[in-house]
Amino acid sequence: MFEIAIWMPAGIFGVAIGSFLNVCISRWPEGGSVFAPRSSCPKCGHRILWYENIPVVGWIALRARCSHCGERISPLYPAIELATAFVWIAAVIRYGASWQALTVAIFFTLLLGIATTDARTYIIPDEFTLGGTGIGLLLALAPGGLSIVQALAGAVFGFGVLYLTAEVGERWLEKPAMGGGDIKMMGMVGSFLGPLGSILTIFLGALIGSIVFVPISLRTHKLVPFGIFLAIGAAATEVWGPAIVEWYTTNIFGL
Ligand SMILES: [Zn+2]
Repeated sequence: MFEIAIWMPAGIFGVAIGSFLNVCISRWPEGGSVFAPRSSCPKCGHRILWYENIPVVGWIALRARCSHCGERISPLYPAIELATAFVWIAAVIRYGASWQALTVAIFFTLLLGIATTDARTYIIPDEFTLGGTGIGLLLALAPGGLSIVQALAGAVFGFGVLYLTAEVGERWLEKPAMGGGDIKMMGMVGSFLGPLGSILTIFLGALIGSIVFVPISLRTHKLVPFGIFLAIGAAATEVWGPAIVEWYTTNIFGL
């Protein structure tokens, strides 16, 4: 009974954060503000009413169409809202009502935003990366989790490793090897996961990326956004990082 009393508010809060995340995802890549103007239908300009804007429920009640012109509303909106709610509930189940849960929930929300904007527009907005780094450092001041020193070291390290990789890659390939968004993103990831977590994220991101990325790139001759794989790598590191590091140190290095 006690658990449900925490899960419910976490889910409701998560769904509301997800609704705000949708606004960020659609406006930040174009340089728009999330505070003004109020949301409207992209086709007919119909101002979306407060009850139409209720997360998930509004979309279902409207049957995925604008109430004025009937333009289809993407299922991505309720999907992001539900995914964010899931993340916030999962964080509370894992860590209880704590700073740690809040930190993990915010981290996953940022990753979700980055993966979505990168997939849709090939842009990773600075608000998620530079803004996210600031949030990561601030949350490191709270009790539990990383210390501020680890968070700072992680931010510098994550940014630095990807910056150097991009520089070397650019000399070698004679064209840009990596986007600036990916580099700034790793600064944010480092501020949440520390230096060791950054290495694991880059390793997992490159591993998953090369399995998925190379075959698709070869077939379509299109660049596949790398930020998505870094986001998956970072999420996997947050959840399984300590287990992976322990497995390595006992089985590979025999410690
Ligand atoms: Zn409309």
